[in-house]
Order: sequence, then structure tokens, then C-alpha cells
Amino acid sequence: MSEICPQCGLPKDTLCVCENIAKEEQRIKIRAIKRKFGKIMTIIEGLDPKVINIKELAKKLKSKLACGGTAKDGVIELQGDHITQVKEELKKEGFNV
Ligand SMILES: [Zn+2]
Repeated sequence: MSEICPQCGLPKDTLCVCENIAKEEQRIKIRAIKRKFGKIMTIIEGLDPKVINIKELAKKLKSKLACGGTAKDGVIELQGDHITQVKEELKKEGFNV
């Protein structure tokens, strides 16, 4: 049995495109910041936690980039400077970067 999308009422894995539309509508900001002790973190902001599974996305990015990181309050933080790679990966996921 397929899960039904609460927004459009269509099966999530076949007909529903809400998630794809939501991804395109996200206004994502990616920046690198310097933390204490000179550690660089890549910050991904602007994701809507109501439509994007941020934990899942963070997990994907961490495994793709082989780095540590956290996801909370709609913000993903990755250890190291990965701006270019993060942009590439988010584009592949269907996000408008
Ligand atoms: Zn839908």
C-alpha cells in the first residue's frame, strides 16, 4: 500500500509531486563559517522542516561528503568546507540552489 500525500491526496511514491515542488521552492543558503579553534563548518539554511526531511537530507550529505554534521531547527551543519559539493548534491536531489 502506498502512502497518501496529505496535501494533494495522491499516492506519495507515484503521482504526488508536492515534495518536488517544495524542493524547488526552498530558498537555500549555503555558507561556510569559522568556529572556535579555526574549525570550518558548512551551514545550509532556508530549508522548511515542514516539507523537507532535514534529518534524512543531512544523513545523505554526511555520507556523500564523508563528514560529520548535525541537523536541527531547519539548519544543517557539516564539518569542513563543502560549499561546492553541497551545491552539487542538493541540485542532484532536485533542490533549487
Ligand atoms: Zn502531494
